Amino acid sequence: MSRFNRLTLPPKPSGDDAMTQTIAFIGLGNMGGGMAANQAKAGNRVLAFDLSQAALDRAAAAGCTPVTSVVEAVRDADVVITMLPAGQHVMKVFSEQIIGAAPTSALLLDCSTIDVDTARKVAGLAKDAGYAFADAPVSGGTAAAEGGTLAFMVGCDEPAFARIESALEPMSRATFRAGDHGAGQAAKICNNMILGITMLGTCEAIGLAEKLGLDPVKMFDIVAKSSGQSWSTTTYYPWPGPVPTAPSNRNYEGGFATAMMLKDLKLAQDAAARSGASTPLGAQTEALFQMFDGLGYGGRDFSAILQMLRGKLDELPRT
Ligand code: NAD
Repeated sequence: MSRFNRLTLPPKPSGDDAMTQTIAFIGLGNMGGGMAANQAKAGNRVLAFDLSQAALDRAAAAGCTPVTSVVEAVRDADVVITMLPAGQHVMKVFSEQIIGAAPTSALLLDCSTIDVDTARKVAGLAKDAGYAFADAPVSGGTAAAEGGTLAFMVGCDEPAFARIESALEPMSRATFRAGDHGAGQAAKICNNMILGITMLGTCEAIGLAEKLGLDPVKMFDIVAKSSGQSWSTTTYYPWPGPVPTAPSNRNYEGGFATAMMLKDLKLAQDAAARSGASTPLGAQTEALFQMFDGLGYGGRDFSAILQMLRGKLDELPRT
């Protein structure tokens, strides 16, 4: 029996605290942990659930109230936020545990990155049951999740957007309505195809610079101020040193798992095949991340692909 039970829940705010929202937060991993913490920092009552006890303990230390089930988290919620690995988790949690258990007044927001079809199916189920729902995937990585500076790409009915923007505010530096349900996910997989390609390009260039006798740290100084600059350089440089918050400084632990990047690249290739878009670099990038994942590095941050290109995998423990 978990040491957290319903008796530990703080009371729902009233009177002067009535502006405080009750947020149910489901999925407290690399991203969700920081996001839930920012909702608590903003003064909201955050009822947090994850399958992992370690994640629940971290959420408790960050001011959230851990609970023992999704149903317990959502039954009193004003806003329900999910941050789960993939489409199958989102479909299961919404269809079996959230819809019907949360009050229909609750706003339901899925911030995971998933396929457009599943996002639309979940939106349909939620709408049929009387809920307002949005797909609201994020960009920015774990540092932005912790700093409350994520970019949100939202797919929702137009009239619901103002309420959604306000609910996301403690975690956001920019929130865009991309279009109707599913449009947030469409924007996200296009964005992450760019990210995968630029990270691979950055890693290839570092490997080449090294072979040409250049210092990869000096290379950062140059590229960060030159036309090869991108988020993969300035915020996430895959060589340790220049960007202290980048996973390269902690042996590529945490961050954005290679398996997650591969999932997003596959989503982009599936969408390209269905829509007839030409994405040859996206296809090549997927193939290389597939190879890195297949070598046993699916749990390492995706920027660790640098070590595969440098032929240095013997120095990188598998996950
Ligand atoms: P993660 O694996 O660290 O976290 C996922 C969490 O969900 C885990 O703690 C897991 O225990 C929990 N979980 C799984 N099934 C559950 C269930 N049924 N009920 C409750 N909890 C459950 O993953 P992450 O890196 O935090 O990524 C989450 C989502 O955010 C993914 O869709 C990913 O593609 C997306 N994303 C990640 C990043 C990043 O930099 N890590 C950036 C943008 C978007």
